[in-house]
Amino acid sequence: MHSDAASHYARLSDGKSAAARDCRVRLDLSGLEIVSDDGAVRMRWPYESLRANEPLRPQSIDVLLSSTDAPGVTVFVPGTQFPNALAPRAPQLTRHAERWRHAKPWVIGAAVLAGLAVLIHTAGWTPLRTIANLLPQSWRERLGDAAIESMAENRQRCVNPVGAAALDQLTQRLSSVSGTGQDFKVLIVDWDLFNAFAVPGNKIIMTKGLIEKADSPDEVAGVLAHEMGHGIALHPETGIIRAIGMSAAVELMMGGSGGTLANLGLILAQLGYTRAAEREADDQALVLLRKSGISQQGLANFFRRVLSEEGKYANDDQNTNGGKSQEKDDRLARTLDMFSTHPPTEERAERIRMSASYPSTPALSAEDWRAFKAICATTAPLTPPAEDEAKR
Ligand SMILES: [Zn+2]
Repeated sequence: MHSDAASHYARLSDGKSAAARDCRVRLDLSGLEIVSDDGAVRMRWPYESLRANEPLRPQSIDVLLSSTDAPGVTVFVPGTQFPNALAPRAPQLTRHAERWRHAKPWVIGAAVLAGLAVLIHTAGWTPLRTIANLLPQSWRERLGDAAIESMAENRQRCVNPVGAAALDQLTQRLSSVSGTGQDFKVLIVDWDLFNAFAVPGNKIIMTKGLIEKADSPDEVAGVLAHEMGHGIALHPETGIIRAIGMSAAVELMMGGSGGTLANLGLILAQLGYTRAAEREADDQALVLLRKSGISQQGLANFFRRVLSEEGKYANDDQNTNGGKSQEKDDRLARTLDMFSTHPPTEERAERIRMSASYPSTPALSAEDWRAFKAICATTAPLTPPAEDEAKR
């Protein structure tokens, strides 16, 4: 018998009752066997009856399955092993799903998302990355544009043409090796804040404050690669959904909720990621830097400098008893800066520093670096409506 003896942990929802059950799934000769841990549910779904929330790919993480044999019932299988084991047995899941995804993303996506919202609220079940994965690109862009728009108030983007050309060149160099087909766009915002963050829809915001503090093009490349790492792992999408809640996210997707939209930029700027997410973004950054032949030591140096600045802040805190309002302003700035949203640690800096070296060339030539540093010499409104319209 060719059955796969391995069984995989999964969560089963019958679509009627609130609770999701722990279960085991096993791939047998002609179908998926599902047995709940409490023994109450035992099902077999023939491979040809299976539907997946998104096409199975070699790098798939998590899969959400349903069957035409059992309407309303879903099985969520976390991890990377199961999708790989399933793909050869149910090859239709690698293409078919792709077709319907392109067919009517708004209608199907909204239905799936609404269904998941109910599931999450009733069962406390939060496979957030799966949901983020479900979002069609057009929604992610919408979410990202809304976030940028909500930050636009009183702020400008830096557009000095020579600097912008240098930035494009660096962005392309890193973006082209992502292997995910994501075409990242970087926006430099004329903002004294010291930060960079990934925005849904493959956009990255970097502030003037960060550019001023950067010592070399390799440092900027390292930060961009780290943010692209967050983008590749869909951390901003996941983070926003976590922050505003699933129902608000659905509302947002459906085109409403001005209040949430207005706060989205702040939410995004404040998103703190877990240590595991930071590690994932660092790992991704190391891959991008290696593949594009840019030394990873820029990122390590950058982290080390941020860490020494943080030390300075800590000392300031002990010394400031007067000047309350100044202190408050500093606090506010700090809740939004790099120290709080991507807290660098000695361990992270060291891990990057110690990673294997490889042949590299500077991220930008000396001339392009000078141009990039001066990118904020010319500014324009953050989201020029006319230009936006023209693009569509
Ligand atoms: Zn980060």
